[in-house]
Amino acid sequence: MEKTGGIAVVLSAKEAFDKLEKVGEGTYGKVYRAREKATGKIVALKKTRLHEDDEGVPPTTLREISILRMLSRDPHVVRLLDVKQGQNKEGKTVLYLVFEYMDTDLKKFIRTFRQSGDNIPPTITKSLMYQLCKGVAFCHGHGILHRDLKPHNLLMDRKTMMLKIADLGLARAFTVPLKKYTHEILTLWYRAPEVLLGATHYSMAVDMWSVACIFAELVTKQALFPGDSELQQLLHIFRLLGTPNEEMWPGVSKLMNWHEYPQWSPQSLSKAVPNLEEAGLDLLSQMLQYEPSKRISAKKAMEHPYFDGLDKTNL
Ligand code: AMP
Repeated sequence: MEKTGGIAVVLSAKEAFDKLEKVGEGTYGKVYRAREKATGKIVALKKTRLHEDDEGVPPTTLREISILRMLSRDPHVVRLLDVKQGQNKEGKTVLYLVFEYMDTDLKKFIRTFRQSGDNIPPTITKSLMYQLCKGVAFCHGHGILHRDLKPHNLLMDRKTMMLKIADLGLARAFTVPLKKYTHEILTLWYRAPEVLLGATHYSMAVDMWSVACIFAELVTKQALFPGDSELQQLLHIFRLLGTPNEEMWPGVSKLMNWHEYPQWSPQSLSKAVPNLEEAGLDLLSQMLQYEPSKRISAKKAMEHPYFDGLDKTNL
């Protein structure tokens, strides 16, 4: 399909790109590595399905695209270069989101170190954490929650060690007072306790919990709370941080999914995350506060002494 709009010729995805290979599968569809025919530039094409009965592009999709466009101005959010229209085999309209191509993600990066037995150098962990906090602070500053931060959707450039947040498809603009959100969509291991306990009002603190879990995982190369059910996930958290009570977390026993749980007292973080320097443990503990309003914000985290020695000029 070739359309002339004004003087610009708009090409469909098929006409503009050579698909090279499938590189991943996201929540919304397949991701391909592709070459832009006109420039030879390598990009990532993310195919997003549109609902069968929708005529044209649904407003929610358009809204997500405009949010993505706005957020991708930040160097730590994966850059949305373009949006192209295409057709699938059945002749249905599909949208291709064209992103800058990133050669790895944090999940693969951590796995490489786990397999070799080496630790991730502390300066690398520090730099990655700073970039993550910066990207999250940017999203939060624009009123956007990610809600599904995990190593798998933190993309990286191996050469420059740049980290970029991806898969903002689930992100939604929110206004204060906070709206209710369903909580089925988050990955368990990085899920905040208030979400697991059925809180109806989420805040930016849910992302900071995920950031904390990612921080610990960078240091130990193992997931901090690898639960395989919602209950097991909570028990993992309680075993390390102590079973919460009204004193530690006012209102906790009023949350929808609250039950009686085995009683554990808090363990020291330095045992669970050995090899992390003192300042890092302090930052981690502030990210792992039970009470969401007490949890450190991304912006405050960037100012934490843990990052004092980091050369931030290229970040
Ligand atoms: P997502 O739907 O964003 O979770 O993407 C699923 C997978 O596709 C990711 O884990 C990556 O392996 C890959 N992927 C997504 N976006 C890109 C990109 N911009 N560059 C390279 N690979 C990507």
